[in-house]
Amino acid sequence: MATRRQFVRRVASAGAGVAAGVAVPGGWLEGAPAVHARQVRPVAISSANGLRAVARAMEVLEGGGEPVEAVVSGVNIVELDPEDTSVGYGGLPNYEGVVQLDASVMNGPTRGAGAVAALEGIKTPSRVALAVMRYTDHVLLVGEGAQRFAVSMGFKVEDLLTEKARERWLEWRAGLNPDDDYLEPKESGDRVERFPVSGAAEPGMLDSYDGERPWGTINCNAIDRDGNLAGVTTTSGLAFKLPGRVGDSPLVGAGLYVDNDVGACGSTGRGEAVINVCGSHTVVELMRAGMSPQDAALEGLRRILRWTVEKRLLDEQGRPAFNVNFYALNKRGETGGAALWPGSRFAVSVDGEARLEDAAYLFER
Ligand code: ASP
Repeated sequence: MATRRQFVRRVASAGAGVAAGVAVPGGWLEGAPAVHARQVRPVAISSANGLRAVARAMEVLEGGGEPVEAVVSGVNIVELDPEDTSVGYGGLPNYEGVVQLDASVMNGPTRGAGAVAALEGIKTPSRVALAVMRYTDHVLLVGEGAQRFAVSMGFKVEDLLTEKARERWLEWRAGLNPDDDYLEPKESGDRVERFPVSGAAEPGMLDSYDGERPWGTINCNAIDRDGNLAGVTTTSGLAFKLPGRVGDSPLVGAGLYVDNDVGACGSTGRGEAVINVCGSHTVVELMRAGMSPQDAALEGLRRILRWTVEKRLLDEQGRPAFNVNFYALNKRGETGGAALWPGSRFAVSVDGEARLEDAAYLFER
């Protein structure tokens, strides 16, 4: 790192115009990372639907793979699983019955990021995000352009709408307006299970179910023994969303943030709430300031509380009528998860064991 004297000399030789706008090294961004570590125990953390993902991520790390490859390989399992209706293939579609996927990756050591949003027809959007990071000078590609890029990189365009997801969408559409021309599936003779509009969501959606519509995503972050970090977040987003709606998952700083000096964080739940407070970036900055992963995640949620003022977003007691989860990992390999509401869990894999842990929370029901 440059000494103050060297820096002043460099700036001086760069000319006065440049000097005026240059940040001072040794300021709080560089000067005081919260966590120093030389060798750490490799760890992977993910949302509750990622038990297999963290186990896979650890296998890749143990085989000498880099953290970014580890986390993407982990979430690929869930993206390709037709039974997980919140991510990738089999994800619940948008308002028009089209599956649109969002994903981002960040690679700590190279400070690289890549993302795709509203991508159709590709089962593993996290891999496309990785290709954006590796093979373009850009960070985020959207919609048709993202798909064309994916095709150019050898990805196959496929129908992502499974029968299960299509039935869910039909059910939701029929329930929208009792006076329209869509009959309830039971009236039309189909054997479709009622889509839950209150009470418990199906397993795997519980983390981010807001009582109205299912939310769901997978975030996975990992650290290797050299202390290098990476993260990925991938999702089909809010079920039945407006076409073109982009959530927090593909937005660097919102649904994912990795700083190789400090830690990594990702989110699931109401993306709009996370975007508004640059959620994952906020949590990483709080870890830089010295907070543990769990405390930083809780403090990030308090920031969301502060921003949730519109009545339509609050319950009768003035509390958020939705859920958000943060999954945080610091440079020492410590993990923590927190949600607005109780009942959330997160997956951790360390020392050869993958398990679910209870997340901290802000409110009692
Ligand atoms: N955060 C995702 C989004 O807003 C959805 C979720 O996690 O449930 O698109």
